[in-house]
Amino acid sequence: MPEFERLLTLRQVSKNFGGVQAVKNLSFDVCAHEIVGLIGPNGSGKSTSVNLISGAVPPSSGEIVWRNQKVNHLPISQRVPLGLARTFQTTSLLAEFSVLDQVLTSCHTSYRVSPWRSIFRTKDARAQDAEQLAKAQELVEFVGLGEVMNDPTSTISSAQQRLLMIATAMACDPRLILLDEPAAGMVAKERKELAEVILRIRARGLAVLVIEHHMGLIMEVCDRIVVLNFGEKIAEGKPAEIQRDTAVIEAYLGGVH
Ligand code: ADP
Ligand code: MG
Repeated sequence: MPEFERLLTLRQVSKNFGGVQAVKNLSFDVCAHEIVGLIGPNGSGKSTSVNLISGAVPPSSGEIVWRNQKVNHLPISQRVPLGLARTFQTTSLLAEFSVLDQVLTSCHTSYRVSPWRSIFRTKDARAQDAEQLAKAQELVEFVGLGEVMNDPTSTISSAQQRLLMIATAMACDPRLILLDEPAAGMVAKERKELAEVILRIRARGLAVLVIEHHMGLIMEVCDRIVVLNFGEKIAEGKPAEIQRDTAVIEAYLGGVH
């Protein structure tokens, strides 16, 4: 039995695209306060899994359960308020916005004041503005972007843009955050900073599901790793167990060497 509350459960989840079985009978859990890695070679079904979990696409069969509620057909917009947020593999930032404004747009999705009261600038609305601003500033600093807080999102480095995506997702107050290839294009020093941010996210009480093609970051931060190959789970375990798993070694090296 898991030590912490089970947040996400996949039971025998499959996804077909025409004749392609992108994900086959995939089952695993993510519990509160856990950092779980989902890895696998290119085309193994990682992005499809994230799309299924976040609600971008519905499963062909199986069950996706979020805190005891079946969410198979809930769209992204209805999963985010339940505490499930994601970042995207490709950057989707608003170029003309500042770093702080980008995070603020996401804070406002959880805005509690009604639009009317907001228009008439009631005291309540102004207090909430200040609250949202403080929250956005804290998140920008949390991911290490305090120094570029007022810079346009288009002028910061791609590694900084990825950290900004994390702050943006965190502004929705998730219980679980899905990171799709957060280290793509990062150099070693940037990956190290990202690893620290991921560990700090967990220290705040969130669970993290990290999707990566490369093993290094995953081995460093994850409590547990799920390995996919051709859409199927071929291994699950602690980083040290995965590193010596022959099926995993074969999946990563077999086709290349
Ligand atoms: P990964 O993220 O691990 O590289 P994907 O989940 O993107 O893998 O892809 C898994 C398989 O499903 C691949 O064979 C891919 O071509 C196929 N696939 C993914 N999305 C679609 C789609 N929208 N339509 C058709 N095939 C798809
Ligand atoms: Mg992918």
